[in-house]
Amino acid sequence: MKFDTRAVHVGEEPNFAPGGTGDVVMPIHLASTFARARIDEPTAGYEYSRSGNPTRDGLERRLAALEDGRHGLAFASGLAAETAVVLSLLRPGDHVVLFDDLYGGSRRLFTKVFSEQWGLSITFVDARDPENVAKAMRPETRMIWLETPTNPLLKLCDIEAICDLAQRKNCLVAVDNTFMTPAFQRPLSLGADLVVHSTTKYLNGHSDSVGGAVIVNDDDLHERLRFHQNAAGAVLSPFDSFLVLRGLKTLGVRMRAHQDSAARIAAWLSERSEVSGVIYPGLDSHPQHDLAARQMSGFGGMVSFELEGGLTAARVVLESLEIFALAESLGGVESLVESPALMTHASVPAQARLDIGLADGLVRLSVGIEDPEDLLADLDQALKKIHT
Ligand SMILES: *Cc1c(COP(=O)(O)O)cnc(C)c1O
Repeated sequence: MKFDTRAVHVGEEPNFAPGGTGDVVMPIHLASTFARARIDEPTAGYEYSRSGNPTRDGLERRLAALEDGRHGLAFASGLAAETAVVLSLLRPGDHVVLFDDLYGGSRRLFTKVFSEQWGLSITFVDARDPENVAKAMRPETRMIWLETPTNPLLKLCDIEAICDLAQRKNCLVAVDNTFMTPAFQRPLSLGADLVVHSTTKYLNGHSDSVGGAVIVNDDDLHERLRFHQNAAGAVLSPFDSFLVLRGLKTLGVRMRAHQDSAARIAAWLSERSEVSGVIYPGLDSHPQHDLAARQMSGFGGMVSFELEGGLTAARVVLESLEIFALAESLGGVESLVESPALMTHASVPAQARLDIGLADGLVRLSVGIEDPEDLLADLDQALKKIHT
């Protein structure tokens, strides 16, 4: 089955078994516990909803099918999914190499919780050059944590090249695929061991659910993650599982719409005198455009740009936009705009922001699926306010 077909059907097959009602949509199974007829036979394999729930199971099967993986696991948030990966697969004293331009919350989790409180040892590197990853590796390095393209600077790393060098060192590679989604990038097929998602973003796609996921191929990794999911309990609720199942049906359609508008807006911004730089992997001017074209089958819906007038100008533009909502998060059908320095990445120390090239005047757009003409007109009126 092709991607768009899997997105609609896998995990949501009508139940024709005796007692099944043939629903074409997955019911929301709200039961916390499942009765059994015989003491040693859980009904249809279900006992208690933290351990397994039919709605969540359906979503987990779909997530696996979309990432070309064998096993999916759904968690209460993207950060809960990341926590599950670390706690189930790593131990204090293990070393992890991470891309230095991660989502702010991921950076905070690894730095403040896993490193400072729990004893994980971590090194941030500019993973655009695989050599930097190789150089940071130590005998006790157990995992490489990547995000590509990164947030908000849209830097890429070569998943295949990094997986190659990890394999030689017997080290796991985890890729946060939240930005591209499996519609445009399949890290497991490029050699990664784990794919992590914030389903809050494009996978759900409608800004009405917080959730996370991990997808793996390896049965042993799956078993350890599954044990942890039940033992620690940060599971996705049945209602949120239903919402993500519904959102995923249009993932391919939405991603193509996000990308078409983002490409148009990126090209338009490049021509504006108020703008000093535009970052979009689909632009020829992106320093890693070739890697983007090779590794991804699309360029996504995120565009970042810097204003000539820095933070002062950014404040004017952000507060003048009318269709773009000034809000954190991304990946919904509605367009959002934000200032990484003041909002999503405020928890990243100022020096660390400077080190990775994150200017205070950077503006990040999550381009929605509204009519692009309206989005361009909105940006036009906001940019014109800078000098008034
Ligand atoms: C939002 C986000 C996360 C964290 O997910 P939550 O669902 O907010 O916990 C992790 N990685 C990326 C790339 C994100 O955008």
